[in-house]
Amino acid sequence: MTSRWRKNADALARLVRNHEGPLTRELVRKPGRFGLGQVPSRLAPDAVAHAVCGYCSTGCGLKLHLRDGEACNVTPDPDYPVNRGMACPKGWEVLSPLDADDRATHPMVRDADGHLVRTSWPEAMRRFVDGVRSVQQAHGDAAFAFLGTGQMPTEELAFFGALSKFGLGMVHGDGNTRQCMATAVQAYKESFGFDAPPYSYQDFEESDVLVLVGSNLCIAHPILWERVCRNPHDPDIIVIDPRRTETAEAATQHVPLRPKSDLTLFYGLAQALIERGCVDRDFVAAHTAGFDAFADFVSAFDEARVVAESGIDAPAFRRLVETIAQGERVSFWWTMGVNQSHEGVRVAQALIDLALMTGNIGRPGTGANSVTGQCNAMGSRLFSNTTNLLGGRDFTCDSDRADVARILDIPVDRIPDERSLAYDEILEGVREGRIRGLWIVATNSAHSWIDQNDFRSLREKLDFLVVQDMYASTETAEMADLVLPAAGWGEKEGTFINSERRIGRIRKVRRAPGEALADFQIFRLVANAAGLDDLFERWKTPEDVFDLMRALSRDRPCDLSGIEDYRMLEASGGMQWPVPESATRDGARPEQERRLFADGGFFHTDGRARFVFEAPRPVAEPTDDAYPFVLLTGRGSSAQWHTETRTGKSATLRKLAPSESQLEIHPDDAIACGIEPGGLVAVASRRDRLVVRARVTTVVPRGAVFLAMHDARTNRLTYASFDPYSHQPSYKHAAVRIESVTDAG
Ligand code: SF4
Repeated sequence: MTSRWRKNADALARLVRNHEGPLTRELVRKPGRFGLGQVPSRLAPDAVAHAVCGYCSTGCGLKLHLRDGEACNVTPDPDYPVNRGMACPKGWEVLSPLDADDRATHPMVRDADGHLVRTSWPEAMRRFVDGVRSVQQAHGDAAFAFLGTGQMPTEELAFFGALSKFGLGMVHGDGNTRQCMATAVQAYKESFGFDAPPYSYQDFEESDVLVLVGSNLCIAHPILWERVCRNPHDPDIIVIDPRRTETAEAATQHVPLRPKSDLTLFYGLAQALIERGCVDRDFVAAHTAGFDAFADFVSAFDEARVVAESGIDAPAFRRLVETIAQGERVSFWWTMGVNQSHEGVRVAQALIDLALMTGNIGRPGTGANSVTGQCNAMGSRLFSNTTNLLGGRDFTCDSDRADVARILDIPVDRIPDERSLAYDEILEGVREGRIRGLWIVATNSAHSWIDQNDFRSLREKLDFLVVQDMYASTETAEMADLVLPAAGWGEKEGTFINSERRIGRIRKVRRAPGEALADFQIFRLVANAAGLDDLFERWKTPEDVFDLMRALSRDRPCDLSGIEDYRMLEASGGMQWPVPESATRDGARPEQERRLFADGGFFHTDGRARFVFEAPRPVAEPTDDAYPFVLLTGRGSSAQWHTETRTGKSATLRKLAPSESQLEIHPDDAIACGIEPGGLVAVASRRDRLVVRARVTTVVPRGAVFLAMHDARTNRLTYASFDPYSHQPSYKHAAVRIESVTDAG
């Protein structure tokens, strides 16, 4: 591993000594070949282009209205099977962030005085290669790592991961999907044998009982909530969440459990259903393994225990059991309230266990269904080459590495044979001096990562930090040694995969500003500057990489091989994997909405799903007399996206969102703490303290407070604990105290 990168070192040095590889020379001479200043000529000047939205994993179809060849307006696509003519505020405003004043328009490098100053692409590439090489020569290839995003198209993610690992010799890379979906990935892999969300959005409309866990669908996935509202079966809608969210308000049952008591509740629910004889014995016998051990395990979770540990009263628990027992098509849905937990994998698997034991899977309106976060979280899961080897394979498996080497026509020894460190482990590597360089692409770690003060202290331990982003103004870009300006959604081509496994296209309908390049083109420049053109000969365009993805996925659960090209995707309104070649042979087309496991066959080698369970564990930072409140964090409104690097640029979205951070606190707690509605309040954890306005409300239960994640200060308070299997941060439980500002001084 070490030597192959060094082998190129001399050639590299020659290539970059004069600040120019062949491609960087060509970039200067013929910028249009790299997309600089151009939109695709294939689009007629006044055409309507079709693309999926670039924010959340719902994956709504949008019509992009062109004037003089560039998008000037957006409307939701009435024919797209996901959103059927609807869009949330972010979708309507998806073009606004492209026009922001603080776009990164040219590469920037930190000078001797510590300032980021403008530089050229050739010089930026020289600095990049020198920076990576010097870290790797001094500390080994694995000392340089990368962090990506679920916001880039799959083709770029695949190129980024392949270039970093197979080309530059890096061993460790991860992405911001670790903060979002890692728990669901791990749960599905262990339970189903592959990371395979089983559902179609049609299931929202076909259930007679929908169980939403830790999911404020109304504001986090508004179009999916619209799909629920279209359900013609007068369904029971059960929301299990400590907060009385907008979704809980609209539900038929709200189950306000104590924070992080969900695992006990679901094991108790399983026990109660077993007692009532609500087990689909035929399905369990034919298609699962481990039910008897599961039934034995949950027998300890009787109603008294559930009531004592979850805080739910007995009648509410019985009503929950009764509703699920009587449901014929019960679907279980979860998002971040489950995933961002110290034991999220087991909680997700408890929901999978419930679906399996009641036979609520593989049929319309059923399923144990994780709703993803980012627009391309699923693309990242399958093709980012971080935790998984390309196509959902295993880096430690000899035959998987051989397969990838054969398909890509690269030497097998270029593929690392060890598991990549997860995001938190990479940061621990930085702390311990094992990781000395980072390449961060399109994620704002210096806002979003848990326990920010600790994260920021690690910056000092990095010898070289490269940040590639649309904006030079993000908290992370401001820390960088080198900033590479990137095009955003709407300024490049590729595909996303949404929550229901649907692959959809994105289109270049705008010129990127200044010298900003599509991430894909930046990776080409890096490959060129690093002397890796031969290795990436087949990676010239996004559609080339899509072809490689088709080959990499052939005969795997995520088979895309039947999608002949981008045009087939566009014409079909997106296609859900799997799409084997047989599905599109002789002009055939798969159904537009499909679910998995209709035949009861799962992806473990014996075809059976597994019951997975484990005793609940205590939270990492329990409340005590000094810090008596639980801090919950989450989305603030449907107009806000994560660290607001994009949504914060839209005047319309800013008007739709709260103008400042508010701490939700229960009226009884507010009185006890001497806090007035709308008054200033200090929230302090063991890590930091911040002052915000109080929103006195019964949305939160007594003993808990809530802050939106969009304020960069929120993660100064959070406590860095992680699920041991998924390594996903537990953003939704930290101990804090509350003080009126007058008291706090
Ligand atoms: Fe975009 Fe998600 Fe809103 Fe749909 S729901 S318009 S995908 S942000």
